[in-house]
Amino acid sequence: MFDVRRQFPEACYKRDVILRILHQIFRTGVVTEPLPTEVEAEIAVIGAELEARIRKTFHRSLVIREVDAGSCNGCELEIHAMNNAVYNCERFGIHFTASPRFADMLLVTGPVSVNMEIALKRTYHSTPNPKIVVAVGDCACDGGIFGESYASLGRISNVIPVDVHIPGCPPRPADLLRGILEIIRG
Ligand code: SF4
Repeated sequence: MFDVRRQFPEACYKRDVILRILHQIFRTGVVTEPLPTEVEAEIAVIGAELEARIRKTFHRSLVIREVDAGSCNGCELEIHAMNNAVYNCERFGIHFTASPRFADMLLVTGPVSVNMEIALKRTYHSTPNPKIVVAVGDCACDGGIFGESYASLGRISNVIPVDVHIPGCPPRPADLLRGILEIIRG
């Protein structure tokens, strides 16, 4: 008798794994918490204008390169949240890139650690003109709680030119989206 498992053990193993994963997915269901209604409404308003202005100004998506110049990662968590399934900034035409050569905008969190100075300057010079530099978070805007020291150069504008500041410790995803919108509005 033809034994499928013996003839195709690897394929059967993969099928079993896939079935287990699907079973787990259906058993778990959707566990993502929805945004509070008022935040969802705020994001919808900001997002609609963002989408229209990005399409008009950039004729495609707004491409962002994020640079952590020495932050505590609190600001990065909010930037990641802006890009996750809940806030989903891609739907408004905001796209993150790994290369500054494709970027329209640099989102920089700080303060600038001494070890990141050269990397930040290189990233800035690798980004094509006209570029927009946004300092995200209190540390990026004015040095924040870290300030300047033997290990820290303080605010981003101490190292590269900054066009816009988005304060907050850390700024919420809605603040980030509103800040980006205000930049594009001019
Ligand atoms: S602004 Fe706040 S969250 Fe952002 S890097 Fe500074 S201390 Fe961390």
